Amino acid sequence: MPELPEIVVISRQMERTLKGKTVAEVSIFQHKMLNRPVSDFKKILPQKTVVSVTPFGKWIVVQCSEEYRLLINLGMGGEMIYFTDKESLPQNTRAIVEFSDGSGFFVTLWWFGYFHLVGKNESHPMTETLGPDPLSLSETDFFRLLENRKGQIKPFLLNQKNIRGIGNYYIQEILYRARLHPLRPIPTLTKEEKLRLHQAIQSVLQEAIALGASDYEKNFFGQTGGFGLSHMRIAYRENAFCPCCGTKVEKIPTGTTSQFICPQCQPFNP
Ligand SMILES: [Zn+2]
Repeated sequence: MPELPEIVVISRQMERTLKGKTVAEVSIFQHKMLNRPVSDFKKILPQKTVVSVTPFGKWIVVQCSEEYRLLINLGMGGEMIYFTDKESLPQNTRAIVEFSDGSGFFVTLWWFGYFHLVGKNESHPMTETLGPDPLSLSETDFFRLLENRKGQIKPFLLNQKNIRGIGNYYIQEILYRARLHPLRPIPTLTKEEKLRLHQAIQSVLQEAIALGASDYEKNFFGQTGGFGLSHMRIAYRENAFCPCCGTKVEKIPTGTTSQFICPQCQPFNP
């Protein structure tokens, strides 16, 4: 599932490629991903020009002229890829946006995903209820975010309403670098641990973005990034040994997800 680094990379590529292009035609092959009738998309989008493309957590926001935003969430296993030749689109294409110069992009979705069109004065609760962008959070902001919170740290960070864009892939390396057990109750975290966590979030996400995001999700040009398992020191290596202390890596359940931890470096009771 694309997380913040993948969305940042795709958004930058889209903005570079699509800015200034004018929509010619929109085709939709799946209705449940929409927030309004297909006819609205077909009526509203043509003649609109792409002004900007920005990441918003796990969403991509395509500003179409001044009046409309196309809000796209690729869900799990979805892809959004640029084309210059419409003849070679995959069979599971759910939407196609074509521009007046003959280029365009298609969207495939596998497991949920959204393709929403929102007017200037319309609200969009699914994005308006999301938490702050992790990369814009100062240490002070981050401390404030954790203030008076009672839950465990991993579920808190994965809940998009608290902070937007972190998912179960990057959280593996984030918590290892921060040397935090995923189920630590937030009130037990010391100032130093919160600082380490803030630093780990920044470093892991920035590193992934710099490498073009993960090596298993496709970007706007159909290529994968360079952030892979070699950049994750213990994740997905059950029974391997922690490179820091030599303890055996464990995979533990964390609610609906699981987490690879070093029990020595990430103790539940430090
Ligand atoms: Zn260790």
